[in-house]
Amino acid sequence: MENCLFCKIAAKQIPSTVVHEDDDLMVFKDINPAAPVHLLIIPKLHLSTLSDCTPEHAPLLGKMLTLVPQLAEQHNIAVAYEADGTPTRGYKTLINSGPDGGQEVYHLHMHLVGGPRPWRGMR
Ligand code: 5GP
Ligand code: ZN
Repeated sequence: MENCLFCKIAAKQIPSTVVHEDDDLMVFKDINPAAPVHLLIIPKLHLSTLSDCTPEHAPLLGKMLTLVPQLAEQHNIAVAYEADGTPTRGYKTLINSGPDGGQEVYHLHMHLVGGPRPWRGMR
């Protein structure tokens, strides 16, 4: 897709800090992180928004989601439990869709945000 920022990042025409790449997906650090860990998970295939996805995209979307636990482990934000069972660490996964959803870049992406709080501009 011409003139799509994240297609250019996926094609490495624009530099980014890539933390994962496979045949279908790329994961890179958000340029303006809202928290200590802020990653963007994108399909290499250009899809503008979640609203462009159909059941045929289920494997791709499943791949994006199931990559999260692996990334969370690698970045030390996976949910863990203290000896007394209290949960610790954890993260937020977020897909903004359309203007009312706060989407700014029109190439489907999932935010993975975590690390010690407070986080800027995010609950
Ligand atoms: P959205 O609001 O569309 O869900 O989020 C877009 C995200 O992309 C924002 O968090 C923004 O900081 C990030 N972003 C925008 N431009 C670039 C860029 O050129 N490189 C990287 N790594 N992130 C970007
Ligand atoms: Zn694109």
